[in-house]
Amino acid sequence: HSARLDGLGTTIFAEMSALALRTGSVNLGQGFPDTDGPGAVIEAAVEALRGGRNQYAPGTGVPELRAAVAEHQRRWYGIELDPDTEVAVTTGATEAIAAALLGLVDPGDEVIALEPYYDSYVAVIQMAGGARRPVTLRPPDFRLSVDELRAAVTPRTTAILLNTPHNPTGAVLTREELEAVAAVAREHDLVVISDEVYEHLTFDVPHVPVATLPGMAERTLTISSGGKTFSFTGWKVGWATGPASLVQAMLGAKQFMTYTSGSPLQPAIALALGLDDDYYASFTQRMRSQRDQLCDGLAALGLEVFVPDGTYFVTTDIRPLGFDDGLDFCRGLPERAGVVAIPHQVFWDDKETGRPLVRWAFCKRPEVISEALDRLSTIR
Ligand code: PMP
Ligand code: GLN
Repeated sequence: HSARLDGLGTTIFAEMSALALRTGSVNLGQGFPDTDGPGAVIEAAVEALRGGRNQYAPGTGVPELRAAVAEHQRRWYGIELDPDTEVAVTTGATEAIAAALLGLVDPGDEVIALEPYYDSYVAVIQMAGGARRPVTLRPPDFRLSVDELRAAVTPRTTAILLNTPHNPTGAVLTREELEAVAAVAREHDLVVISDEVYEHLTFDVPHVPVATLPGMAERTLTISSGGKTFSFTGWKVGWATGPASLVQAMLGAKQFMTYTSGSPLQPAIALALGLDDDYYASFTQRMRSQRDQLCDGLAALGLEVFVPDGTYFVTTDIRPLGFDDGLDFCRGLPERAGVVAIPHQVFWDDKETGRPLVRWAFCKRPEVISEALDRLSTIR
């Protein structure tokens, strides 16, 4: 393989989901729900499939989805966007992240990113020829250190890659933390790429889009997707919003990666974005109750649990159980207990801190979480 893939290996999500399948384990690893999203959204996709919407969409996405994304940003955050120039549809948030970095980062540029890093960030920064500069979120609170952020800026810094709510820690950046990020971005004239795929998964704390802070709308590319919010992770319908110049840079790369994204699923996600407040509230409520069930259960087993404010993941420290290496622990867990989880250390440069941490997904039905907890009762 090419040098740009050096050291990237196989994504941990593929390894752990394959392990779950092979061993018949309960999969609390890869973050996908075990229940489909709303039937009306599926019907809308079927209608589009039967209704002849099967040829290429425009490169920016079908008009009704761009309009729905713009309306969603207005409805929830008061952000005004021109759906023709400031919204673009992508093949999942993953493509938006990749195309944004490839479209904005030159070889030798530095990108500041939150460590632990969602795995595609490391890979794509490397493929773009850039270098990552961590700002590390450490247990137990996973808060952002403003001093560390300031110290990470160099003359080569081009962009700050944010993720809030944050995978894998479950931290939700506070308005104060985001204001510090915004101040640094404005001072050093940096672009912010903000991955907000868990925007509707916060529990008792607000999600603050960094684009809503003063002076940030013009320098922020915000990324999200329908996968998490509507439980259609396999559909891979994502989008990027922001000033036309940043959306254009992202599209400049996207046009030669996939050209356009799948047509018939786009009107269905447009419909989903327009669902009433009850849909969003009950989705969050369900995930909160599953969070509590899993966190309580893992704590009862003796793990140190860092209860998340957002996402559908909880991080634990396995040392109270007498283990110290999360990768070994997760690779042995199917055999010991018939459960799969995700070792944190693959997301860390600071292996020391990441080693004993393990991430568990709670986007699973309560009976599945119960079953996993029963099986785990033997791990001590
Ligand atoms: N960013 C983060 C932080 C994620 O957890 C995920 C996981 N799905 C993605 C991006 C990718 O989203 P998509 O499936 O829409 O490509
Ligand atoms: N975002 C999900 C997770 O963190 C799925 C990632 C993936 O499969 N690439 O588990």
